[in-house]
Amino acid sequence: MRNSRDRELGLGRAITRRDFLNGVALTVGAAIVPSPLFGAFDLAASDLAPQDKPGYYPPALTGLRGSHVGSFEAAHAVRDGTFWDDAPKPIDTGETYDLIVVGGGISGLSAAHFFRKSAGSSARVLVLDNHDDFGGHAKRNEFSIGNQFRLGFGGTFSIESPAPYSKVAKALVEELGIDVPSYPKYVSRGLYHSQGLDPCIFFDKESFGADKLVVNPKPSNISETVPTVSGEAERWKKFVAEAPLTAAAKKDIDRLYHENGDYLPGLSSDQKKARLARMSYAAFLSDLVKVHPQVVQLFQAMPQPLFGVGIDAVAAQDAWGLGLPGFAGLNLDPAPGKGMNRDCIPNEEAEAYFFHFPDGNASIARMLVRKLVPDAIPGTTAADVVLAKADYNKLDNASSPVRIRLSSTAVRVKHVGDAASAKEVEVTYARGGKVYTARASHCILACWHVVIPYICEELPDKQKAALAEAAKVPLLYTNVALRNWTSFQKLGASSVYAPNGYHTFFTLDLPVSIGGYECAKKPEEPILIHMMKTPCKPGRPARDQHRIGRMELFMTTFDTIEGKIREQLARTLGPGGFDPARDITAITVNRWPHGYAYEYNSLWDQFWLEGGETPCEVARKPFGRIAIANADADAYAYTDCAIDQAWRAVGEIAKG
Ligand SMILES: Cc1cc2nc3c(=O)[nH]c(=O)nc-3n(C[C@H](O)[C@H](O)[C@H](O)COP(=O)(O)OP(=O)(O)OC[C@H]3O[C@@H](n4cnc5c(N)ncnc54)[C@H](O)[C@@H]3O)c2cc1C
Repeated sequence: MRNSRDRELGLGRAITRRDFLNGVALTVGAAIVPSPLFGAFDLAASDLAPQDKPGYYPPALTGLRGSHVGSFEAAHAVRDGTFWDDAPKPIDTGETYDLIVVGGGISGLSAAHFFRKSAGSSARVLVLDNHDDFGGHAKRNEFSIGNQFRLGFGGTFSIESPAPYSKVAKALVEELGIDVPSYPKYVSRGLYHSQGLDPCIFFDKESFGADKLVVNPKPSNISETVPTVSGEAERWKKFVAEAPLTAAAKKDIDRLYHENGDYLPGLSSDQKKARLARMSYAAFLSDLVKVHPQVVQLFQAMPQPLFGVGIDAVAAQDAWGLGLPGFAGLNLDPAPGKGMNRDCIPNEEAEAYFFHFPDGNASIARMLVRKLVPDAIPGTTAADVVLAKADYNKLDNASSPVRIRLSSTAVRVKHVGDAASAKEVEVTYARGGKVYTARASHCILACWHVVIPYICEELPDKQKAALAEAAKVPLLYTNVALRNWTSFQKLGASSVYAPNGYHTFFTLDLPVSIGGYECAKKPEEPILIHMMKTPCKPGRPARDQHRIGRMELFMTTFDTIEGKIREQLARTLGPGGFDPARDITAITVNRWPHGYAYEYNSLWDQFWLEGGETPCEVARKPFGRIAIANADADAYAYTDCAIDQAWRAVGEIAKG
């Protein structure tokens, strides 16, 4: 039952997503059916696998995407030990390959590509992925708004990394035809600022006493996807005049940014860094700088887009590396301190290496697929891939040396015989209510590491324990299609940091036009806004926060999330004339309970401070004919890592 507030927000309106129930297609995409574990969906009855049916086109699906319904049930049943209770007898496909890759993200696709380069292009490779689309986190979201086509990223946003790309990763980017230095040609840098729009902060009345949108005097590059803008002095003045903060809090913010206090007097730079590595930034602000609690509240969610947790769980030394305020008077040696998180070590060369496609790094995944199965994606360049339509029906053809099989969850991976002497690995996978086997000379597990101990039982216990430590950071990447962005223009906001919002950050789409794709340039034109949420429970250890957040994402329905989005946008943009019922045309929530690879840090990982073997080094060891890739393999949530780890894994099987 909808109440009148729901109706005002437009919860009853027909938007594109209403064709779908929790990401389950009811109309054109009827080929994409959730696969309750066993029984309800009978592949034999329909002969064709879903991806081979006409009209199968996951990028255009809206509603709940990311880890969508139908993608995780089999893996969870394996985890819970119930999978084999009801499983039908596995069907032997009779297929044999040179390599089976489990996981069709950038790491798995890169592994398939590197393998063919070393073994020859006739080498036979099968890629299995549990999702209905390839790319892993690198997912493409498409929208039609009126007569306009808009592209969004459902996960992996851009080519960027805190440290420079390795030779291997750079070479692959270049081989795909991506000219990273040419990026400025495609982005309309300064578009929003030139129209009077700047990053803003939304203060909510529950936490700060009034709903108020105020210009952000010092947008942090942690959460802003727009270039830092000029006119700082002017913005400070406006902020101080308008922010619903107490006079004491405003004074403390000024002190934090503009006074250079030494809050650890009498210690050397190394001693200070050692202290900062062991205290949270929240503690630094409260206990050393002694700021007003409202200041801590204001900063709380700032690092969430990077780490999935707030300043209560991020080390002060890392906050210093990120450029957060309060450290100017400590006279710290600029060299990175011991135990710094890799994301927090500034590097100019790495910062300059940036490229954003309108669908994010889904373009990389699509270019890799084009290399592996050329018929599936037309074109030849990094520009023409942007508008190229993938033909899913070509991905898994017997005539092709490489086959990409979607909606297929590997449930058991084991050597045929003893690992030391076996000639083959058998991979069992669940798909459409049935269970199948295929064999290969080698297998690369490019899937999430937490899954591996459950599907590959023959691994040594120590390695399984290390793999299990790689629980990922949960995130929501939401795309909302709007008829126009006039309300943003009226309010002068290009992006919004909302420390207590359901989504703690949202922004107008990064304006990139490439390969015939044109981004919105005028406020009257349809646009996507990108919203980000990292569910967490401040005050607890980081891994606990991620576990609780992951559960929250699994338990929350699309309807609830939609309501939160509409409410948040109405409250923030309403004074600019925004009407969620009228202005929102579609919503795609990319739910990633298993999101970023967990990155080690000095607050929660003693070994990271002390040195020695890290869990990911134990986790990624090859075993017999099985090698292990994925960004988890170096505990580093970046595309270059996914590529580098694929390269290493292929090298290991080539040696073995
Ligand atoms: C929301 C989000 C935003 C990001 N933004 C960026 C960014 O801007 N830049 C950047 O460099 N990095 C970014 N990352 C990090 C990103 O994870 C990596 O860049 C890269 O895409 C990871 O690739 P991968 O192949 O290692 O893992 P994934 O992309 O996760 O692929 C692994 C695949 O294996 C599948 N799988 C798991 N278990 C099984 C099974 N049993 N059977 C079959 N398949 C299985 C998974 O479902 C998944 O599809 C982002 C990550 C997230 C979640």
